[in-house]
Parts: sequence; C-alpha cells; structure tokens
Amino acid sequence: MFGYHLHVLLLHFLLLCNFVTSFTPVDTPSDFHEAVFNVELSSPLNTDLLQQLYSQLSPLISSHQISLEAPHLHNDMYILEIYAFTPTAFQSIPSIISSLSIPFNIKDIRLKRSATHTRDSRYISDCSTIRETYKSDNTSMGLYHDTDELTTFLHQIVQTYPSLASLSLLGHSYENRPIYSLLLTSSNSSSLSPSSTFKPAIKYIGNIHGDETVSREILIRLISYLCIEYTSQTNPYITTLLNSIRLYIVPTMNPDGFEMGTRANSHNIDLNRNFPDQFQDDINSPKGRQIETTTIMQWSEEETFVLSISFHGGSLVANYPFDGTKTAEVDSSGIISKTPDDEEFILLAKSYAQKHNSMSKSKEFPGGITNGANWYVLYGGMQDWNYVYYGRFNFSLFVFLISL
Ligand SMILES: [Zn+2]
Repeated sequence: MFGYHLHVLLLHFLLLCNFVTSFTPVDTPSDFHEAVFNVELSSPLNTDLLQQLYSQLSPLISSHQISLEAPHLHNDMYILEIYAFTPTAFQSIPSIISSLSIPFNIKDIRLKRSATHTRDSRYISDCSTIRETYKSDNTSMGLYHDTDELTTFLHQIVQTYPSLASLSLLGHSYENRPIYSLLLTSSNSSSLSPSSTFKPAIKYIGNIHGDETVSREILIRLISYLCIEYTSQTNPYITTLLNSIRLYIVPTMNPDGFEMGTRANSHNIDLNRNFPDQFQDDINSPKGRQIETTTIMQWSEEETFVLSISFHGGSLVANYPFDGTKTAEVDSSGIISKTPDDEEFILLAKSYAQKHNSMSKSKEFPGGITNGANWYVLYGGMQDWNYVYYGRFNFSLFVFLISL
C-alpha cells in the first residue's frame, strides 16, 4: 500500500513544487496599516550614507507615507527601521534602498494589520481608501485576502465547481473567525462512497503562524489554479491528480494572528508549540489546548491522511520530523532526531526541494532539506504530532524567505 501512496505523493509533490515556484508573492498588500522594513547596513553608518538615505526618502516622508526610525546598533550591525503606511510607499522602499551606493540588506519586513497597532489613526482612512481603489480594478486576485474575502472566495469556489469542491466549517478562532477546510477531488459529491475511500487523503494547512501570510495566500491561489486547470481538462497531470487523491486545504489555522499581524494567536500562544508531544506532553487529547489547535485535532481524527503539509514563511527549506528530541540540551552543531521512516522522509523532502530551483541551491540547507531538530528543536509542533500519533507523513514547507 505504501508503494502506491509513495507514487501518489511524488506525483503530488511535482505539482506542488511547480506551482509554488511559479507563484509570485503579492508585494503590495492592501490591508496593512503599517509595514516595517528592518534594514541592515552592511557597512558602518556614516553621515554621508544617512544623508543619501534621507534625501531619497524625504519626498515620501513629507507626504506621510514613510517614516524613518533612528538607526541603532545591534550585533555590531546598524539597523534602520523604515515604516511605510501605504502600498505605494511599500513598493518604493526596496528600490530606494537599492539605489544607494552602499549595500544594504533588507533583513525583515513586518506588517501590522490591526487598527490597534496603528501609530496614527489618520492612516486607517488612507488605507481603506487605497483598498477600495484596488478592489475596483480586476486585479483583486493579486491582493491578500482578509477573513471576509477568504470566506467569500471559498464559497464562490464551491458554487462554481460543485462537482470538484466542497467546504467544511471546522470551527472558529477565539475571536470567532471561521476556520475552513476545502476538499478538492473529482466526483466530490460521492466522497463517502466506497470507491473514493481508496483515494489517499492529503491535507495542506497554511497560516499556522499568523504573520506568515504568504503561506495562506499561496493556498488560496493553489485552490483557484487547481479548479481552473481541472475544469479546462487541458492539464492531464492535474486531472490525474484530482482523480487520484482527496486534497484538503485549510488556508488559515490562525485567522486571528493573521488579522493582528502576529505569529501567535489572540491568546499569545504559538500554535505550532501547542500540539501533544511525545517528549514533553504525551497525552493525545485536545483538552486544555488552544481552540484553533483543538479544531485541527478533532478534524484530523475524522480522516485518514497519508500526508500533511504545513506551510510557513521566513526560510526556504523542506523540513521533516522530528522537531523534538529526547536530548534536553542541544549544542549549536545540532543533532538529527530521526523517525523510523527517515529514508522515506528524506526521499520525499528531496523530491520536493530538487524541483525548486532556489531551495535546492540553498547554502544554509544542503539540498534544500533539513531534519527539524537539526535546524532547531521545538516541542508541540504539528508535524511531530501527525507522525507520532497517526503515522502520517508531515512536512513543513518554508516557502518564502520573508514573511509578508
Ligand atoms: Zn511558521
């Protein structure tokens, strides 16, 4: 049985990788109130540099689109924080930085979406005006989807492709935002029929970390892409795939974190540290866990998944279990915490990473793959839980270097 599954998994990785590598992240999110660019200066700061920077930024600063925090020293590097308050300013910053003669490195970009994080309430109206402007053109697929838009999108998919897609409301977050699962498979209406039960079930979960928003948007795009391609019947590969598997897609597990622009949920808990754990929390029960974790745990009981993928941002690597280890202390050289299926995990992780041009050339991760604990040890993660308690293969795909 595993041989058949392996074949399907390899086939499916080919599709997923082709899609992810062709995906261009949205570089102009419309619904943020504040974007913070963390810029590292790769040479010591001097007056000339600062003057150049100010002269480039000043036209925008005077129009209240950008502000600049005083640089501060961090680990012998100077860090500048540049705040953008409009999509236009957001787009301008990289080109302004790259136009300077002294090399910079954009270390991080953080977005704050919640009005409560807004530094100045007047920008709220600016952003909503811009948002309306963007909505009025037909490129709205190019924008990030907020909670309402995601809900609308999923319902539209089911209406448009009733024989391919069905939607389940799995539960709600603490702030009452819905957590949906969309099932894509051929002859979906008979998904409980005996024949369909032979189709392996695969689940994708995005946005477990609220601020890793590309992981959410990429799944929204993937849903759209699969439905269009399958229906057009011009892509035999996708036809075969959706005839062969049941693909469940949960675009967001942490909708509150997404809206707040935070990694954690609204109770300030990192959901990828909140699952049962073989080493530290070995009772496979949802009791006492966060509501979003409970929602995913209870839903996962209902289906026999052969593969799970959680999508993350902030790096570019295919990460496989275990994340945890028996060893309490881990030195900087790292350790490898192997599952009994280590060879299969490596085979599958490689099959993904090798098709991803940038991932496979990673300098940080040989071959673009890593054992979880070898990168950094964590406990209570979803991928160890899937494998330990259900024997499911779970990968964490880190699909973008920055979290937008
Ligand atoms: Zn993450």
